[in-house]
Amino acid sequence: NGASHVKKADKEDKAKLLDKVDAFIFDCDGVIWRGDSLIDGVPETLDALRAMGKKLIFVTNNSTKSRKGYLGKFTGLGLNISAEEIYSSSYAAAAYLDSIDFPKDKKVYVVGEVGIIEELELKGIQHLGGPEDVDKKIELKPGFALPHDESVGAVVVGFDRHINYHKIQYATLCISENPGCHFIATNLDAKTHLTDAQEWAGNGSMVGAIKGSTKREPTVVGKPAEFMLANIAETFGLRRNQICMVGDRLDTDILFGQHGGLTTMLVLSGVTTEQALLSPDNTIHPDLYTDQLSDLLEAAKA
Ligand code: PLP
Ligand code: CA
Repeated sequence: NGASHVKKADKEDKAKLLDKVDAFIFDCDGVIWRGDSLIDGVPETLDALRAMGKKLIFVTNNSTKSRKGYLGKFTGLGLNISAEEIYSSSYAAAAYLDSIDFPKDKKVYVVGEVGIIEELELKGIQHLGGPEDVDKKIELKPGFALPHDESVGAVVVGFDRHINYHKIQYATLCISENPGCHFIATNLDAKTHLTDAQEWAGNGSMVGAIKGSTKREPTVVGKPAEFMLANIAETFGLRRNQICMVGDRLDTDILFGQHGGLTTMLVLSGVTTEQALLSPDNTIHPDLYTDQLSDLLEAAKA
């Protein structure tokens, strides 16, 4: 019966929401853009929310870009955002290592793309793997063992369109041969929308490969893990009951908001259909839902 609690936001709900919250955390893909296209009405809505004095924060589980990379994407789409307003799962991985005082003489082995590398560099964390290992091939011959750097103290697994057997074996060795090695996943998204024509295997598949070979559970730093929320609340001086999380995914965005004690709003402009939301099989219920972000525009201008 849970689904009966889920409410499509009417005019009054939206006005109440804008009254109640001082800040919005927006998921990016499915809320702000879809792939490389801006979703209708987003610039006007962000402007109107800013004009009301709302703090706006943008959180993405896509680790392929750094915060700087995303700043370029926002700017390219004509959105005026500052670097401090962006939290990517690539940054979360570096910030997590920083938060555990990852030793400066240890290295991180990366399965992932340039976003993670750029964020590790900004923290002065030594790394190997990632784009460097794109062309590495394993040639199996009798007696062959893949050597690995014993100073690797963490493996970070993010979305990697060039994942290969070398990377999987290297990450497996680092984790299996060193019980103290951290295993960090930027996110576990099962599917992503690399093109609008179909769903594509997400980082859950890459993390799954390393979980499968190591039998270890990763520490997840992206949504729905709460790791970034504490940082956001502290940086912007926000109380959690003053924040609304807006996202298109139930098992990342809405759970993230619920774990953190935020107000949650699902938009139907991304991966979740109204049918899936209201299905008796769905157990994750946002406080409100609406078709798309620009549905807030009227209330914001009122
Ligand atoms: N991971 C990858 C590789 C993606 O392509 C996407 C969406 O495009 C995501 C994660 C989810 O990103 P977000 O959290 O912004 O919806
Ligand atoms: Ca999304």
